[in-house]
Amino acid sequence: MNDTTRTDEGLADAVRAGDRRALARAITLVESTCADDRARAADLMARLLPHTGGSLRLGITGVPGVGKSTFIEAFGALVLARGHRLAVLAVDPSSTRTGGSILGDKTRMERLATSPEAFIRPSPTGGTLGGVTRRTREALLLCEAAGFDVVIVETAGVGQSETAVADLVDLFLLLLLPGGGDELQGLKRGIVELADLIVVNKADGELKAAADRAAAEYAAALNLLRGGEALQPEVLTASARTGAGLDEVWSAIGRFSDRAVAIGAHAARRAGQARAWLWSEIDAGLEEAFRQHPEVAARLPELETRVVAGELTPAAAAAELIRLLEG
Ligand code: GDP
Repeated sequence: MNDTTRTDEGLADAVRAGDRRALARAITLVESTCADDRARAADLMARLLPHTGGSLRLGITGVPGVGKSTFIEAFGALVLARGHRLAVLAVDPSSTRTGGSILGDKTRMERLATSPEAFIRPSPTGGTLGGVTRRTREALLLCEAAGFDVVIVETAGVGQSETAVADLVDLFLLLLLPGGGDELQGLKRGIVELADLIVVNKADGELKAAADRAAAEYAAALNLLRGGEALQPEVLTASARTGAGLDEVWSAIGRFSDRAVAIGAHAARRAGQARAWLWSEIDAGLEEAFRQHPEVAARLPELETRVVAGELTPAAAAAELIRLLEG
């Protein structure tokens, strides 16, 4: 650590100045589970919070193999060419390590990674859904404080992390394969309901016709599911490989954002997210206080055994333990 960033004030200033190494260090700090670091991280976040909020927060999801990293690489280049600074946070629910496995393959987003106007970072989650939300949210805010005005949060479309990511972003983009038919049937309804924009990727070569057909089917399905919504998702086709359609994706994102701002949906979504964040912090704080309470810790094993043995209802055991906390 150099002199200017040794103090947390110095680190906060360096992040605000857009120093990517300081940003990386700040994210490492907020990812730390050590109690000292948590306190420093909270202080850092408090210093930087007034300088956050200014980015377009974009979630991108899709099953492994759909082309997420290829898409983000090509789309990211387009975003940079338009004069933006881009941060990419890749959420890997399976990874508990900093520098986790999702970017272990050095060839992922290689070109983007070398651009001075881009910042790419895997976001380990600590293996829990709460981890996705807390750490990724803080990393996102740090990127904003560092002046990145477009932040992409990438998540592999498996499991529940999408829901958590959808709660962090302004627009949730779902990448799909040119499958249609079976895929449409098997598509997780929940994810489609979360999507603000759907892009059928790999619309090139032999797959072009299938992609067009799939897009038409998805559009029809969405009309049934979500017709009449003020912000009904558009369905587009694109090729991350050739770059075809990426301009249109950027335009559709702009249209969505303008409309969301105009009808108050953007502000309402951010307000709802702030409220949900408050409650998740309260939940996490209460649970920690509960688990660390000496009388609770002393009583818990016995009550747990009795619940498991069927001698006591979980509700009665919980009520007794919570009374200890209050007492
Ligand atoms: P991820 O697992 O979702 O990150 O997917 P990748 O970006 O690693 O891509 C998976 C495979 O699909 C790779 O072999 C890519 O070359 C290929 N791929 C990605 N985008 C396209 C595309 O637009 N068209 C075609 N034909 N292949 C693509």
